[in-house]
Order: sequence, then structure tokens, then C-alpha cells
Amino acid sequence: EVAVLRLGHRPGRDERMTTHVGLTARALGADRVWIPDNAGQSLETVRDITDRFGGPFTAELTDSPKGIIRDWEGRVVHLTMYGERVQDVEAEVKRAHGDDDEPILIVVGAEKVSFDVYEEADWNVGVTNQPHSEVAGLAVFLDRLFEGRELEREWDDADQRVIPMETGKRVEPADEE
Ligand code: SAM
Repeated sequence: EVAVLRLGHRPGRDERMTTHVGLTARALGADRVWIPDNAGQSLETVRDITDRFGGPFTAELTDSPKGIIRDWEGRVVHLTMYGERVQDVEAEVKRAHGDDDEPILIVVGAEKVSFDVYEEADWNVGVTNQPHSEVAGLAVFLDRLFEGRELEREWDDADQRVIPMETGKRVEPADEE
């Protein structure tokens, strides 16, 4: 299992970012996302997309993000620009996930992340050591973890699917083959 935890949400300012953490987690192969309970609209959007474009994918609110980290029975990756370089630690994370079947919790912040999260994490990982975005960091990290296999994924119970094409936009009912 690969789960994503969105730590922190500033109402107003973070609405799209929190939604995009959820959508990116889903699209790029994670199994579930936890969203802070003051971001109910983001949860609705992620669930709505999952209903329309398929799953399985679980999106839930949490009133205790730190409790999720504490109680996680597996390994914890905290994405931060201050962390070890992703290219240096990815093999170790993949070994834990792939060989040892350890569930992986990926934590991304919104504003300043408190130091206990750095201590609780098994790995603090930088996707570059430059400041950028939790959405970008999450996308690159998932793609590294799954080595691109997430791009081949099939979706269950979708109402609609996009037909890839060179030019134009085509969306069809998903059960029409
Ligand atoms: N400045 C804040 C701090 O000191 O914790 C972080 C704010 S940043 C806009 C929000 C989140 O983006 C971070 O918590 C982290 O998860 C993610 N992030 C930003 N740059 C990153 C990087 N280079 N590598 C990995 N994650 C990054």
C-alpha cells in the first residue's frame, strides 16, 4: 500500500493545492490520500473525480494528521527540500516497499512542517534541494517509486475515459470498448 498524507491546509489559500495533492496521488498510483478536515471541498473534488474516472482510490478526511503518522504500520517518507536527495534514497525505499512489502506513507506539507515530523519519518526526502511545490515533489517521487509503471495503470468502475489523441479531445463512456 502507498498512502499520501496532506499535512496542513490553509483555507482559502490552499484549496487548489490540497485538491491537487489528492488528484496527483490518485493519478500517479497511490492507493489513498488523507486530507485535513478543514479541506472538505478538496475531498469532495477528489471523490468526484474518482467516481467519474475510476479507481480504486480512497480519499478521507483526518482530524489528526500526526496521529496517522504515529500509528502508521510501515515506513514514512516525508518530502522536504531539506531532505536527502531522492536519487540517493529511492533504492532503499523501493526495497522496503517492493521486497519487504512495507506500506509506505508519503507526507507532504503546506506551510512550515514541525520538527517532530522530520524525526518521525524514516526518510526525509528532497526532490532537488530547491523550494518548489508539494504537488511536483509528490509526482516525481511516485514516478520514481513505481518506475513509470503507474503510467500503464488500468482504472476500475470509471464512468468515462479519455481516448488519447494527437489533436482534439475525446471522452467516451468507459464501458464502450
Ligand atoms: N517552507 C516550508 C518548510 O520549511 O517546511 C515548506 C513549504 S512548501 C511550499 C510545501 C511542501 O512542499 C513542503 O512541506 C514539502 O512537502 C513540499 N516540497 C517543497 N519543495 C520540495 C522539495 N524540493 N522536495 C520535496 N518536497 C518539497
